[in-house]
Amino acid sequence: MRIDLHTHSTASDGTDAPAQLVRKAAAAGLDVVALTDHDTTRGHAEAVAALPEGLTLVTGAELSCRLDGVSMHMLAYLFDPEEPALLAERELVRDDRVPRARAMVAKLNELGVPVTWEQVARIAGGGSVGRPHVASALVELGVVPTVNDAFTQDWLADGGRAHVEKHETDPFEAIRLIKGAGGVAVFAHPAAVKRGRTVSEAAIADLAAAGLDGIEVDHMDHDADTRTRLRGTARELGLLVTGSSDYHGSRKTCVLGEYTTDPEVYGEITRRAFGAFPVPGAGGA
Ligand code: AMP
Ligand code: ZN
Ligand code: FE
Ligand code: FE
Repeated sequence: MRIDLHTHSTASDGTDAPAQLVRKAAAAGLDVVALTDHDTTRGHAEAVAALPEGLTLVTGAELSCRLDGVSMHMLAYLFDPEEPALLAERELVRDDRVPRARAMVAKLNELGVPVTWEQVARIAGGGSVGRPHVASALVELGVVPTVNDAFTQDWLADGGRAHVEKHETDPFEAIRLIKGAGGVAVFAHPAAVKRGRTVSEAAIADLAAAGLDGIEVDHMDHDADTRTRLRGTARELGLLVTGSSDYHGSRKTCVLGEYTTDPEVYGEITRRAFGAFPVPGAGGA
């Protein structure tokens, strides 16, 4: 059984529409795929409607959080998308991405880059707008050769010249909200050092004590040593270990199923989810 628990569609900063994404997931030989767009569940309906025979969709989202000034991502699985408290927080974060992207455009203009909000909005196409869309605009303009090259101190990396922070949720609050909506909380790529500062092991222990279910260990942004260390952390703290591609279509180099999650862990995630609404094809491991 091949299980990929972290992907993005055009509902945020991926390049495949949700329907395309599930078709590609089936073609890539996956049995289970989670759709976890940034701060939105808007892609779910299309993914469910297009779900190929034999593929199970895990509904989810990747919530933007910040702890002690450090940005971090919390994967939320199988929560009730209509639960009002989590819905309100998700919309707050998602909607704040628009003025924030406009502010990054203004900073880039000050730096002499002729990018416009209209260009970024066209690239985002109505999806939850983020830095990768701005980065694609910079590629279009020939400012940088690739999306990755826009994530430097010169441009859009955390603290970079054109970077603007967005509203981000306190992760303890995020865990509370996810649980309150019947979901399961997994800390995404907790040691992705190339993206900027990361939270301490002590903070992970605090999050575990607050109900965090797991950490994403097998991820392209973790090297072999980091994975070994994080597996130890998970064992010590009684956390589930997940793996995923963090697929973004053509906006990143990773492929669907590049890293996967153990079927037993997937089964445990589905057991922990409250299950107050139908999950297409979900039946545990
Ligand atoms: P945002 O949520 O708008 O701040 O954008 C964050 C997204 O940008 C992440 O989910 C990644 O997809 C991407 N990203 C962040 N840091 C990097 C990096 N160093 N290289 C490439 N992509 C990055
Ligand atoms: Zn992303
Ligand atoms: Fe992330
Ligand atoms: Fe992601």
